Amino acid sequence: MAPTDHGTGPIEAVHDPRYLHYLESAWTEWQALGFEHPLIPDTFPLSRLLDGRLDAVAADGTARAMSGHFTFDTATPLVAGTYVAARASANCALSAADAVLAGGRFAFAACRPPGHHAGRDFYGGYCFLNNSAIAATALRSAAGGRVAVLDLDFHHGNGTQQIFWDDPEVLTVSIHGHPDRQYPYFTGRAEEIGAAGAEGSNLNVPLPAGVDDHAYLAAVAGASDRVARFDPAHLVVPLGVDTFVDDPLGDFAVTTDGYARIGRRVASLKLPTVVLLEGGYAVGAIGRNVASFLRGLEQG
Ligand SMILES: [Zn+2]
Repeated sequence: MAPTDHGTGPIEAVHDPRYLHYLESAWTEWQALGFEHPLIPDTFPLSRLLDGRLDAVAADGTARAMSGHFTFDTATPLVAGTYVAARASANCALSAADAVLAGGRFAFAACRPPGHHAGRDFYGGYCFLNNSAIAATALRSAAGGRVAVLDLDFHHGNGTQQIFWDDPEVLTVSIHGHPDRQYPYFTGRAEEIGAAGAEGSNLNVPLPAGVDDHAYLAAVAGASDRVARFDPAHLVVPLGVDTFVDDPLGDFAVTTDGYARIGRRVASLKLPTVVLLEGGYAVGAIGRNVASFLRGLEQG
């Protein structure tokens, strides 16, 4: 089905208004400053520089000064079409949520740009709006009940973790390369379990290099047990196929057949499920790996 425009409401339910204003206006301001190249920050406001007072300083800055305030990396250029593309991607995620709310067993959206590295008020990792968090929040507001997010991208879903960190009604689970060796480095450890009052609502499963189908499925089985115990009404799966054996960024060894087995394991949860595309850098293999996962989900 074709995605439909859901307006700004479901996005504002997740992201900070000042951040959204920045995303929408930054490129125009950047051009007004005389720049034509992609907006990439050159400076980041480390919190230890000024006792936490840097937030107020950055809020009054130009697009150039504020860029470092609203992102955590230099890998995510902001360009002319960024905001429009991010909005379209979020609309795809919301339309997939609609399909599940209408009674579908599962729905998939090929979201581009991806979303799971975007937090409440920051972007990074090629992500600007957190599609999974937006879909999860929309599912909760439309149908009530708890929602679980099972992040199967190779990298830690740091943005999703931040957004739901203090929310005991949303379980966030991420299976990923250990942050000691892999992006985004500073988060994704097993000790991160959620804020006071929401302890246990965040589960990180950091894994060593070389994880094959068998080891990955074992991690998915453990994570699925946790999801089942949480007893959510809906499941959102940010699916990255950068866990693939030939992926140039990831160092896992999941095979195309493995994705079908992972899909079947997720299907065994018997939950209405929204699957949203995240990473995948073996570009020629993305389609068949995603299709394999979806076939498993359909069969399971
Ligand atoms: Zn990734």
